[in-house]
Amino acid sequence: MIIEEIEQCAKILKELKVPNIVVTGGEPLLRSDIVDIVRLLNKYGFSVRLQTNGTLVNEEKIKALADAGLKNITTSLDTLDEKKFDWICRSKDLVQKIEKSLDIMAKYLDGFIVVSTVVSRINASELPEIVKFVHSKRAYSSLVPVHLQKTENAPGFCYGYNKEMLFSREDFPEIKKSYAEILKMKKEGYRIINSKKFLNDSLEYFRTGNYAWDCKAGKRIFVIYSDGGVAPCGVFPPLINIKSNFLEKFRSAEYEESARRIREGCSGCIFACWRETSLFIDDFATRMEQMMLYLRKKTSTHHK
Ligand code: SF4
Repeated sequence: MIIEEIEQCAKILKELKVPNIVVTGGEPLLRSDIVDIVRLLNKYGFSVRLQTNGTLVNEEKIKALADAGLKNITTSLDTLDEKKFDWICRSKDLVQKIEKSLDIMAKYLDGFIVVSTVVSRINASELPEIVKFVHSKRAYSSLVPVHLQKTENAPGFCYGYNKEMLFSREDFPEIKKSYAEILKMKKEGYRIINSKKFLNDSLEYFRTGNYAWDCKAGKRIFVIYSDGGVAPCGVFPPLINIKSNFLEKFRSAEYEESARRIREGCSGCIFACWRETSLFIDDFATRMEQMMLYLRKKTSTHHK
């Protein structure tokens, strides 16, 4: 979408009273007009979070984004082992690049700098170390279980099949130990953005393989693809298009019914952004816990 189309989207989303927008990709920093997009969304009053792989971060870009109103950003780091991370991302010197990016982000952005870690068999024992590293950079860890097919030919989820990353029953004691440590660290005030409920649900998923939940994708959250297609969540193809009679279609019984059929046909997921959003709205204890986290950030009372 060109920026004029994004402005049209912003007006529509404003009318729907959407509070939060995550700008993602692909890689959003590849867009030469990313600063203008952020400025535009900020002008319309949305809380904006940019999700980047961190490789294109530099001082000039982050300063310009901060000046345009960006506060919150997410990047990823799955391991502190340079070789392993390069293998996962098919990249080079990525740990070093992320470390540098985090320093730049901390210098200019005063919102939540979040480091997302996909939890898989290859980093299960390393999670507390990753959390300590992220904490030392004044950023917040978000731990998200890997979503993989169980076998090579099983029906696909986002990341396909990967033998090295897939958990087996024998790995559970290791992951249980790591999560017990993470929950303890959270209590001690380390910067961990996941709610306790989400961490416990993740552990339950590792134990049982079950990630069904009361998903409300379609209304509470939805995804707008780069061509304007709108889907209940990023795992599914679009049902309608924001450029074509969107509000009427979005409010129609037909759209609600299509979204409901998708939700009912989906076996679930444990992606942090969608589940945490729902937990924040539906679960009083989680809401209180996340507000305390926000207060801790404001008053700088995290673990030293
Ligand atoms: S449970 Fe299914 S429909 Fe709901 S957000 Fe997850 S993947 Fe999407």
